[in-house]
Amino acid sequence: MSDIADVSDKHIETFINSAIANASRKTQLHSDGHCAFCDEAVDIGLLFCDRDCRDDYDKQQRVMRIVGCR
Ligand SMILES: [Zn+2]
Repeated sequence: MSDIADVSDKHIETFINSAIANASRKTQLHSDGHCAFCDEAVDIGLLFCDRDCRDDYDKQQRVMRIVGCR
C-alpha cells in the first residue's frame, strides 16, 4: 500500500523527467542580429525583436514538437 509520500515522489519524478526531456529537445538559439522568428534586425545579444515574437516562436516550436517535426 502506498502512502501520500510515495504518490508525491512519483509525481515529482514524472515532472522532472518531463522537464529534462523538454530541455534536451529545446533548440539552442544564437543571437546573430536578427529576430529568430520574423528575421527583423535586432540588437546584438537579443534573440527576438519583441515579446510577441518570442511567444509566437515558442508556440511554433511546441506545435512542431507535437506534430513530430522536431
Ligand atoms: Zn521578430
